[in-house]
Order: sequence, then structure tokens, then C-alpha cells
Amino acid sequence: MARSKALRQATETYACLRKAHPDAHCELDHESVFQLLVATVMSAQTTDVNVNKATPALFERWPAPKHLASASRDDVESTISSIGMFRQKAKNIVRLSQLLMAGHGGSVPETLEELVALPGVGRKTANVVLGVAWNKPEGVVVDTHVQRIGQRLGWTKNTTPEKIEVDLAGTFPREDWAMVSHTLIFHGRRVCTARKPACAACTVSEACPSAFKAENVGRKPPKPGRTSDANAPSKKAASKKSAAKSKKAVAKSKKAVAKKPSPKRMRAKKASGSSS
Ligand code: SF4
Repeated sequence: MARSKALRQATETYACLRKAHPDAHCELDHESVFQLLVATVMSAQTTDVNVNKATPALFERWPAPKHLASASRDDVESTISSIGMFRQKAKNIVRLSQLLMAGHGGSVPETLEELVALPGVGRKTANVVLGVAWNKPEGVVVDTHVQRIGQRLGWTKNTTPEKIEVDLAGTFPREDWAMVSHTLIFHGRRVCTARKPACAACTVSEACPSAFKAENVGRKPPKPGRTSDANAPSKKAASKKSAAKSKKAVAKSKKAVAKKPSPKRMRAKKASGSSS
């Protein structure tokens, strides 16, 4: 497909998705840019829901960098201990607060370079802050939903977040970058889920090259000679089956050994047979 046609289709599909999810937004609760930054650092490897459960207590006690910069790390750890990797995250958010106080006058910087220099802040976190707080993202935030749906919609053939980000940033204008990400995340949670995409209810099914076959998108094709049947047993199921089979075989052979008369008994039998 010619690139201009592909871009036009992607734009139309995105417009439909925007209409379907007009409420798409960053779901991390925050009342300031600093709180958004901290919540985003805390969201690594965990869900927004879990972060939102932990941050009210954190922000009530330490609402701004000047408070968190002088907090005891043990106290912060115990306050956010409900989320994964809480020790590392407590260390990062205390340290980044200290750096904001020391080098930025207590404000959150507005450039990618300055943001990624803070502990616990990678490109993805920095782009969340730049897009949501400052409306000037330097890229598209690619999480698992954005990756999956970008692939299913045919907007990218790549499989790494870095390359997918480049594809999406080349498809949409900069002013849409933050919202593209929020919209795909909402679509991924509500309709185009990883396991069971609801293609029949999807507003873009006519334009989607993966409609009703999305389970195959993003997977490696089967090796020649192997079945691609979706009902075929998975590797795990097959290995379980073979383990059960060999267990049965061992039990059978044990039974057979148990049944076999001992050499002593055989000799006794033979002797009694010859004397009769
Ligand atoms: S048609 Fe199906 S695979 Fe395509 S975006 Fe919609 S739910 Fe996802």
C-alpha cells in the first residue's frame, strides 16, 4: 500500500478511535506535575490502579519535592510497600526530589534530556510527563496496549517499543502523540484486549487488517510442518501430557517388576516341580 494511502487510513482509523474513547486520558491520579512524575516513576512494572491506591498516602504526607527530599527512605518504603519494587522506587523518588530541589528550584524540568537524567526516569516516563503536563512530547509512549494495537491495526510491523515509537511518531503529527497513546490504551483495555479482542463490537473492525484474527498478530508464524491450528495443544499442555505418559509407563513397569517372582521363589518352584 502506498505510504500516503496508509497514512490517510491510519488518520481515519485514529479519528474513529478518538470518537469511541473521548474520555481517554492519563489514568495516574495527580494534582501537580511533580506528583505526575512520581506516580509515573512508581508505575513501572505495575498497574495504574495499584499506583493510585498507594499515592494518596504518599502525597498527603509529602506533596511536593521539598517534602519528599527530606523524607526518611524507610518511611517512604513502608508507605508505598503495596507496589512492586517499592524499595528501588522509594530510593528513586526521594533522590529525584533532592535533585529537583538542588538543580531545578523544586520544579519539574520540561526537556527530555533533563528528565531522563533523574533517577528512575526513562524515555517512556519522561514522555508521559512531557505529553500530559507540558503538552510537548518528544515521542509516543509505547506500552503493551499501544504495542499490541499498533501491530493489529497495521500501523507498525516492528516488535520493539523503540521501533514502534518511531513508526507511530512518523504516522501522526506531534500534537497527537500523547493522545494516540491514551486512546490506544483505552481501546486496549476496553475492546481490543490481548486475549479476546471484541472485534464484533469494535468501531474500526472494517479498517483493521487483524479483525477476527487478531490472536495471530504479533506471534511468530508456525515452523514449516507444524500445525497452526489454534486448537492444537500448547507446548505446556503437550509437555504435561508427555510427563503424565512417562509417569504411567514407570508405574506400569514397577507393577510388572512387583509381579515377577524372585529368583529364589523361581528356584523353589522349580525344585518342588522336579520332586513331584
Ligand atoms: S477489529 Fe479486532 S483486532 Fe482490530 S482493533 Fe478492533 S478489536 Fe482489535
